[in-house]
Amino acid sequence: MTREEKLALVKSRRWYHSIEIEPDLVTPGMRSQAELQQLLTYVELPSRLDGLTVLDIGAWDGFFSFEAERRGAKRVVAYDLVPADHCGFDTARTLLGSDVEYVQGSVYDLDRETVGRFDIVLFFGVLYHLRYPLLALDRIHDVCDGVLLLETHCLDRCLILEDAEATTLERIDRRLASIPLYRFYPANELNRDYSNWFSLNQRAIEDGLRTAGFEPALLAQWGDRVAYRARKRQGPQPYLQATYEGTATKSLTRTPLIRAAKIVRDPAPPATVEPRSPSVDAARPGVSDRIARSAVSSCWCGGVLGELVAPRYRRCVACGSAVLAERPTVEHFRVVDDERDFYGRTYWTEYAEARSFPDICARARTDLSERCVFWLARLLEAVHPPGRVLEIGCGHGGFVKLMRELGFDAVGTELSPWVVDFARRTFEVPVLLGPLDTLALEPGFTCIAAFDVLEHLDDPLGTMRRCRELLAGDGTLLLQTPWYRGEGPEWSMFQPDEHIHLFTEAAVETLLRRAGFEAVTVQPSLFPHDMWVVARPHASASGSTDEARIPAAFQALLGLQRHADELGRTLAVVEADRGDRLTQVHELTDRLQELTAELAASEADRAERLDQIHTLTRRLTASDADRAERLAQVNQLTRKIHEVNDELATANADRAARLTQIHELTRQIRDLTSQLATSEADRQARLEAIQALQRDLAAAHAELDAIRNSWAWKATRPLRLGRERSPR
Ligand SMILES: [Zn+2]
Repeated sequence: MTREEKLALVKSRRWYHSIEIEPDLVTPGMRSQAELQQLLTYVELPSRLDGLTVLDIGAWDGFFSFEAERRGAKRVVAYDLVPADHCGFDTARTLLGSDVEYVQGSVYDLDRETVGRFDIVLFFGVLYHLRYPLLALDRIHDVCDGVLLLETHCLDRCLILEDAEATTLERIDRRLASIPLYRFYPANELNRDYSNWFSLNQRAIEDGLRTAGFEPALLAQWGDRVAYRARKRQGPQPYLQATYEGTATKSLTRTPLIRAAKIVRDPAPPATVEPRSPSVDAARPGVSDRIARSAVSSCWCGGVLGELVAPRYRRCVACGSAVLAERPTVEHFRVVDDERDFYGRTYWTEYAEARSFPDICARARTDLSERCVFWLARLLEAVHPPGRVLEIGCGHGGFVKLMRELGFDAVGTELSPWVVDFARRTFEVPVLLGPLDTLALEPGFTCIAAFDVLEHLDDPLGTMRRCRELLAGDGTLLLQTPWYRGEGPEWSMFQPDEHIHLFTEAAVETLLRRAGFEAVTVQPSLFPHDMWVVARPHASASGSTDEARIPAAFQALLGLQRHADELGRTLAVVEADRGDRLTQVHELTDRLQELTAELAASEADRAERLDQIHTLTRRLTASDADRAERLAQVNQLTRKIHEVNDELATANADRAARLTQIHELTRQIRDLTSQLATSEADRQARLEAIQALQRDLAAAHAELDAIRNSWAWKATRPLRLGRERSPR
C-alpha cells in the first residue's frame, strides 16, 4: 500500500484514538497520542507483556489493544459493543498489519468459555457508562486470571449538584470519602452525556472490586479520574455469600440481562421450569436432564424461598436452609423399575462410578472399617444393646449387620428391590423395601438411625414425625446430614438430582422440635461437611453410658477407632497446617512469578534504556567530533577574517595616504587654476593693452596717412627725399 493510499484510508474515517500507523502518519483522533500515552503511564502497563494474554474492554479504535500487542502480548482481544468496522478499529488493524482479535459483545456477557481467560484485563473509561457497574465487575472476574487495570471517572472531586454546579465531596463533608457512594445520573448531568449513569467515589470503586473478588490498589488520581490495579483473589467471589438477584448463576448472566432483571422484579419462581441447557450440569454426569422438575416456592418449614444460593437452590427466608427450588416429582423418589428409576440399581453402580464414588460392592467392604465404626461408636454413646433398631436407607446393610452382631435387633430399609436383595445376600440382614411412610412397623424402637438420608427427603417433617411415632419414649434418633453454613455454589453438597434440603443447625433443630423431639444436639460428624444429630422425645431421657454390656471385641475395636480418630484429628491439624503452608508456598510462588515477571519486564526495560543510552552516547560522540571539526573551521575562518582585517587596515591606510595626495593635488590644481586665472586675466589685460596700443597705432597710422596726404607733406616731399638719399 502506498503512503497516499494509507493516507486516504486514514482520512476516510472518524477517529477517537490517535494511533501511529507509521512515522509521521497518525490517525487524527479526538484523544491525542500524548493523552493516551499519559494514561498508559497512570495505569502502569508493563513495558513488556511477552507471553501474556490481554483483554481490552471498550476497545473502540483499539489504541490500547495495539499497544499491548506492540509490547509483546501473545494474545490480545479487543472487545466492544459495536462491529469492528463501526469505528476505526478495522482500518487501523489493516494499516498496522495487526493480529489483534476483535470480539463484539457486552461486558455483561463476558464468559471464559466464549472469549477465554486473560492475564490482564484493560477496562478504561467504561465503568461510569454502565447501568450495572457491579455486574460488569462480576463478569470480568470470570475471564480475568491475573490483573484488572481499571481507569474511570470518579466522584470524589467531581460531584454534580442539582444546579449543575460541580463540587468535591470534601467540600461537603470530609467523612463522605470513607462511605461508598454512587451518584446516579438519570439524564446527561455528567458532561452532558446521556450515556453516563453512575459516578462512584474511590471507596465505592474499591469496595465494588472487593465484593467482586479483586484486591484493588490505587495507582493514580488526576482531575476527576482514577486508575486502579485490581488483582484477582482466589476462591469464590465474596458477593456470592448473599445475593437475591440470581446473578450468581452463569445461565442468568450469560443470557440477556432482561432475564436477571425479571427475576429481581418478580422473586417468585415461575410455575414450571424450562429444560436446562446440558452445559449447566455438564460437571454432574448422569440423569439430571431426564429428571422432570417443577418449581416450588416454599420450604418444608413453610418459609418463602428467597435468594438463589447455588444453581437451583434458594435460601429459605424463615429457617435458613438451602432448598432445591426446582423439585423432582414424587415419582423421582420411588423405585418401581430398578433399571430406570433414579434410586434404582444404577444409583448404586454406574451413577456412583460416574461421580467417582465407589460402587456398592466396594462400599460394603470399606464402610465396615470406616464409616460404620464411626457410626457405631456414636450409636453406643446413645444406646446400648439389646433393643430394636431401625436404620432408614441402610444401603448395602453393613451397619445393620454390625448392630446385629452387637446384640441389637436391627433392621434396615431401602427403596430399591435390587439393593434390598444385595443387602440380604451380602450381610444376611433383614431389609424392608420402600419409603418409611409405606412400611407397617411396630412402634417402640430403641433407636432409629438415618445416615445421609434426611437431605434426600421431599417431606422431611413427615418422615421425622413418623420416626417420633415409631420411637420408644426413651428412644434415640440419630441423623447424619450435610451441615449448611452459607457456603457458595461451589459447595459439593449442592446436588440438585438428590439433595432437596440442606439444613442449617438451627433448621434441623426446628425440624425435630416440630416433629416432637424435645432434646436435640448437633455436633460435627466424620466429614466436616456433615452434622451429627442426636434427638430424643423427652429432654429428661438420656442415653446409657454403661459400657460394661458392650462385648470386649467391640470395645477393642472402638478403642482402636478412638485412637484412629485422634490420629485423624492430629492428621487434620497437620494437614491444615500443611495446607496453610502449601497456600503460603503457592502465594509465595505466585508472588515470585510476579516478581520474576516484573524483573523480566524491568530487565527488558533496563536493556531498552541501556540501548537508548548507547545510541545517545554514539550520537553524542558523533556530535562531539562534528563540533570539533566545526570549531576548527571557525578558527580558520577567524584567522582569515583577521588577515582580511589587516589587509583592509593596510588598504585603508593606503587609501588615506592617497586621499591626502589627492587633496594635495586638488589644492595644487586649485592653486594652478587660480594662477592660470590670474595669468589669463593678466594676459587678457595685456591683450587689451595690446589691442589698445594697436588701436593707438592704427590711429597713428591713420594720422600719418592723413599727414602724408596733406599738402604740406607733399610739399615737403622733395626735401625729405634728399634726406633720404643722403647717408645718414
Ligand atoms: Zn425453611
